[in-house]
Amino acid sequence: MPFTYNCPRCGTASRPYVFRSGAEDHGVRHRRRRHDGDYPVREYIQRIAWRYAFARAAAWRPSGGDAIAAAAAGLLVLWCLWHALTN
Ligand SMILES: [Zn+2]
Repeated sequence: MPFTYNCPRCGTASRPYVFRSGAEDHGVRHRRRRHDGDYPVREYIQRIAWRYAFARAAAWRPSGGDAIAAAAAGLLVLWCLWHALTN
């Protein structure tokens, strides 16, 4: 059964992780980025059913940062191909 990290202060749940340690690591990163390392009151790790994990994974959409990183990577690949073919 997969696990999610849940932050009631932000009202968010992480993507599902197969191991509890993955959800806990997500919580560490979340606290560091969003809460300056402080522990949100009543944060928790939740064990969820596999069908909810698949539904959440299917509902995942890239963030703006993901889109920018993908565009930069695509441009880099195109530049490398163009450079290899023209020299
Ligand atoms: Zn939070």
